Amino acid sequence: MAIERTLSIIKPDATRRNLTGKINAKFEDAGLRIVAQKRMKLSIEQAQQFYAVHSARPFFGELTEFMASGPVVVQVLEGEGAVLKNREVMGATNPKDAAPGTIRAEFAESVGENSVHGSDAPETAAQEIAFFFAGTELVG
Ligand code: ATP
Ligand code: MG
Repeated sequence: MAIERTLSIIKPDATRRNLTGKINAKFEDAGLRIVAQKRMKLSIEQAQQFYAVHSARPFFGELTEFMASGPVVVQVLEGEGAVLKNREVMGATNPKDAAPGTIRAEFAESVGENSVHGSDAPETAAQEIAFFFAGTELVG
């Protein structure tokens, strides 16, 4: 499988509980390399733009307000099949459905406040990485 890059976001529920290091350990233990990382606070406008694909969903307001409610850590993960591998490490969207040992099974508080975001395909990964990072900020 090819080396890929994917965008990850450690969400405000996780930064609030000081879980950045524990979540990063899950990525690194799975063989994913953190090749870019920054902590930032999203504006409502940035959250709406990032999650524009969900703008018609009933939870859009809740989701974007939550994502702007506190610090996030945006990061680029690199590795073999990184997009899918990260989705496996994250676990299902709803922590009740997430497999044991996954980030969401261990840390997520609810389907909305579920600790991490991960790109869902190589094409969206490229777009999402470009949303937050300049090419010069990715150091593999
Ligand atoms: P993400 O895109 O954040 O990695 P995902 O791909 O597992 O998560 P999506 O279906 O893309 O899930 O939903 C995006 C985000 O919207 C979810 O991570 C969650 O925070 C929120 N969300 C999804 N479904 C619901 C819901 N039913 N109620 C509240 N929030 C939801
Ligand atoms: Mg998604």
